[in-house]
Amino acid sequence: MTKEEIRNKVFELQKKISEWDNAYYNLDNPLVEDAVYDIEILKLIKLEQQYASYFTYEELKNSPTQRINASSLTQFEKVRHEIPMLSLNKAYSLSEISKFIDNIKKVANSFSFFVEPKIDGLSISLKYKNGKLIQAATRGDGLVGENVTENVMQIASIPKQISYLKDLEVRGEVYLPISQFLKLNKTLEKGKFNTFANPRNAAAGTLRQLDSAIVYERKLSAFLYYVVSPQEHNISTMEQAFDFLQKHNFPITNVFKVVNSIDEIQKFIDDFATEKLTLDYETDGIVIKLNELEFYNALGQTQKFPHSAIAFKYEPNVAKTIIKDIFITIGRTGLVTYNAKLEPTELSGSLISFATLNNFNYVRDLNLNINDMVYIKKAGEIIPCVIGLANQKNTIDYFKRIENCPYCNSKLIANETFLEEYCENENCPEINRKKLIHFASKECMNFFSVGEKIINKFIELKLLYTPLDFYKLKDKIELLVNLENFGHKSIMKMLTTIEESKNVSLDRVIFALSIKHIGTKVANFIASKVLELKNFLSFDFASLINYNEIGEKITSSLIDWVSKDSNKDFVNKLLEIGINAKYVSNVKSKLFENKTFVITGTLSKPRTYFENLILENGGKVVNTVSQKTSYLLVGENPGSKLQKANSLKIEIINEQTFDDILKSDF
Ligand code: NAD
Repeated sequence: MTKEEIRNKVFELQKKISEWDNAYYNLDNPLVEDAVYDIEILKLIKLEQQYASYFTYEELKNSPTQRINASSLTQFEKVRHEIPMLSLNKAYSLSEISKFIDNIKKVANSFSFFVEPKIDGLSISLKYKNGKLIQAATRGDGLVGENVTENVMQIASIPKQISYLKDLEVRGEVYLPISQFLKLNKTLEKGKFNTFANPRNAAAGTLRQLDSAIVYERKLSAFLYYVVSPQEHNISTMEQAFDFLQKHNFPITNVFKVVNSIDEIQKFIDDFATEKLTLDYETDGIVIKLNELEFYNALGQTQKFPHSAIAFKYEPNVAKTIIKDIFITIGRTGLVTYNAKLEPTELSGSLISFATLNNFNYVRDLNLNINDMVYIKKAGEIIPCVIGLANQKNTIDYFKRIENCPYCNSKLIANETFLEEYCENENCPEINRKKLIHFASKECMNFFSVGEKIINKFIELKLLYTPLDFYKLKDKIELLVNLENFGHKSIMKMLTTIEESKNVSLDRVIFALSIKHIGTKVANFIASKVLELKNFLSFDFASLINYNEIGEKITSSLIDWVSKDSNKDFVNKLLEIGINAKYVSNVKSKLFENKTFVITGTLSKPRTYFENLILENGGKVVNTVSQKTSYLLVGENPGSKLQKANSLKIEIINEQTFDDILKSDF
């Protein structure tokens, strides 16, 4: 890159990050995920350092990397901080922590570290006079913040009166507990108000608004972690500062440690990676502080952060790559999914070549197009997803909605919200192919070894068109056994399982019908009411609403489906060939009666194994953690469900405990 190109690149990044800062700090409404922000600001820091000689002092000084890019809202009185409230420098690796330590060694021989969580809230400064809370201020740009005393008075855990009578300023973080955040968003959703993206924004949005009654209702909390001018209060280490804060009834986190070496810091980082999921507050890393305060002055600070502390941030599960193509796939119900073909890139140990883009609205909202550089994320249990634009290649043409089905060319039909689009052509070859794969699958009719490859081959040979054709294969044995790669034995086994499938339970047949919005659990519920396949076409599906198990979307989908002649004909033909499946309750015990489970993380066996055990024992399995959840079954690398369950005080069990409970019943 030429000097001019580098300068332009840096200015472009500075501008983009300043816009993000404004949305995040001033409007409490971030435009991008923190992981994306962190990658981009890191890129800017590196460019500014590497090419410092290409810029004037002013150009660098005003960069968002050098100052806290926040301003104070005009509604609040301004407060000047006598001692600036700074940000923290970041480390993403041990070697960066090592550099931080090397710098300390320049001024100190013997020292230790105080390590604690980095609370994801907003900084607060509290001033006390004669033991009375007289002022609370936000950080603002570090020099001037907002007077939010009235609002802070509504935070129950912050003491309004303390027994320590000397003038005192303490600093910490105001946050919204995850449990309160979940409740708040639910209430906002009910009232059809905009919800908050995360607890940090909810906390900032709450503290920086004018009605203190709302602050009271939302139940903010706080942790204090610093005493300003510590020597005036006979405090000489961070550890003593925590003791002091605790003694005077300030809320402090109970997760902290004094450590002496980088190995111990590493251990804290490793341990906290799991522990953070059990806390009722969000954290975005850990903070490593020099414990001995006497060296702080000698170490000094920049305009933005001190040299006596550093924030370690865990590696985000995000990577950057280029979209090579955007295409749609059509599912067995005709549902359209937008996908990105990517330049293969490594993410969390696997090579990613495709990612989901969900639907067209998602592509349009993120402004994505072919050849753009994008961020992808793989979080715990979900498939990789494009989460944001890193660099736009083409700013003139936007990717246009795909109007027609790529397999049958019929016009795609969107639902009212435009979030779902369907190919409605009953003869679409792709829908038929997907239906055949689904029909033969383990969860449905369970045909021996009939997977996608064999189905493709049989379609090519015109042996299969509708699922009914599986039952006609027995008349084509001669042709089948002579096919390349098919042995006589496996063909016979396949035909046997096809015949045996006439006896599968009703829930499997209902799931096999590929009706919109009907998954295994709903199919089982419907089966328990319909009882026999022969009742299916005349069943009053509207009446299912009364059970409070399924909603209108599902009942209308069922009513729609059975009203179509082709579907009626299909069910009648299934009955004719001898499939009159019946409901079989697979509940063998009442051990988990009225108990609802959610599963997260990787377990030693497939999830369906545990789901079946729960169902067999009378329990229910759902996807989202709520107050109604009885147990969260946790495997390795659990997702955010663990944190949510913890905050709602849901009982958390691992595989061992699950087995123990099962054994206790026998
Ligand atoms: P920061 O949050 O990265 O770090 C400094 C702050 O940490 C301090 O001011 C303090 O308030 C807080 N903190 C929490 N626990 C602490 C503890 N135990 N000890 C000391 N301080 C503690 O500060 P920042 O520079 O304001 O924010 C940068 C971060 O905010 C970015 O890394 C990014 O993740 C996020 N951000 C996101 C966007 C976005 O658009 N998504 C925009 C701006 C900033």
